Amino acid sequence: MYGRLLSSSTTSGLLILFLFCTGCGAEKTESDLSGETEEQVVQRALDIHDRVLTIDTHADTPLRMIEPGFDMSVRHDPDETGSKVDYPRMKEGGLDAIFFAAFVAQEIRDGEGNTRAKTLCLQMIDSIIASTSRNSDMVGLALDPDHAYQLEKQGKRAIYIGIENGYPIGNDVSNVELFYNKGVRYITLVHSANNDLADSATDPDGTEHGGISDLGQKVVKEMNRLGIMVDVSHGNDSVFYDAIAMSKAPIIASHSNARAVTDHSRNMTDEMLKLMAENGGVVQLTMLDVYLRTAPPNPARDAALDSLRASMKSVTEMTAEERNSLREAYNAINEKYPSPPATVEHVVDHIDHIVEVAGIDHVGIGCDFDGGGGIQGVWDASEVMNITIELVRRGYSEEEIAKIWGGNLIRVFKEVQAVSEQLQAEAA
Ligand SMILES: [Zn+2]
Repeated sequence: MYGRLLSSSTTSGLLILFLFCTGCGAEKTESDLSGETEEQVVQRALDIHDRVLTIDTHADTPLRMIEPGFDMSVRHDPDETGSKVDYPRMKEGGLDAIFFAAFVAQEIRDGEGNTRAKTLCLQMIDSIIASTSRNSDMVGLALDPDHAYQLEKQGKRAIYIGIENGYPIGNDVSNVELFYNKGVRYITLVHSANNDLADSATDPDGTEHGGISDLGQKVVKEMNRLGIMVDVSHGNDSVFYDAIAMSKAPIIASHSNARAVTDHSRNMTDEMLKLMAENGGVVQLTMLDVYLRTAPPNPARDAALDSLRASMKSVTEMTAEERNSLREAYNAINEKYPSPPATVEHVVDHIDHIVEVAGIDHVGIGCDFDGGGGIQGVWDASEVMNITIELVRRGYSEEEIAKIWGGNLIRVFKEVQAVSEQLQAEAA
């Protein structure tokens, strides 16, 4: 309905589109909700968006932050640069807090590979810390749940640190404490291929440990002790069940969706969603087309994407130029073999489903910007208010929206810290 214009539009352009296009084709100008006009619904949503604490639990922006010359204090054009997050766009989108994930792609699992992974991970963490101190007028490094609220009051964005892929831990559990001391507050155990800690949902070789390995179990225990959230996104189903059984604190899925809505191994089944509710954890919805809607079969597109992927080197090894040509190649495939885009409506379909199955206390948002996230209407950090607009349209209250946008995650974060304090007191 909105075309590609929406994805590249600025906030004001976007709002204009929303104001004028939402009722496109419909005769009615009044909203179904208590007789409000479309403008009133949008305004009410924007006011709510402004009042509630908004947290995005997953962005791979550190991949950009380690690029020489990449400046987080400057607004970037997402279509020209591929960048989805910087501090000005977080402000535009009303995004109060974010977890920047230090992501290391899975490679060879030996001493040398582990050392390389740890070095790169620390480089990314240091780049996050350096960026927050360099831009202390706009953002602040956040370590505790309350920091997000404190920084919001100061008109600053809260920057939390996570690690996506436990690979940099290697075989040395003491690295978990090293990362904690650097400010890391969640670790995604595994990424798209199996590692020494856990099995991936997407490893072509299938399961290796039958879920979380013995080493992974020690890592989970150490995360519980220190107060680091255990993130099961990217893990296979057994990893989820193992994490629920092993973790003494509630767990999170920092960027995962509902499998009953979109059948993908990265998404969570209803049984898992129910267990997540029992566990007191939270599932953070993510903005990737393939996890949000089932596209009609398109073998020519799949083949073209497969061959592009096969020719790719690891993202962390790419130069800016190589990244640009990759993006161009991807855009060319999209143009030649278009696929219907995922939209904000798909996102809220998943939220509706999780709320129905697990309840309002167990869903949140983790966009995966700069890691493949970005859909029509939520193309980058400047457009995240569109999720709130759709939630308001569907009748969600401010209290419910506050839970979805951050309250639930903060609750889990606090519980994880409380469990850590208890475990440390018991050990003393
Ligand atoms: Zn991911």
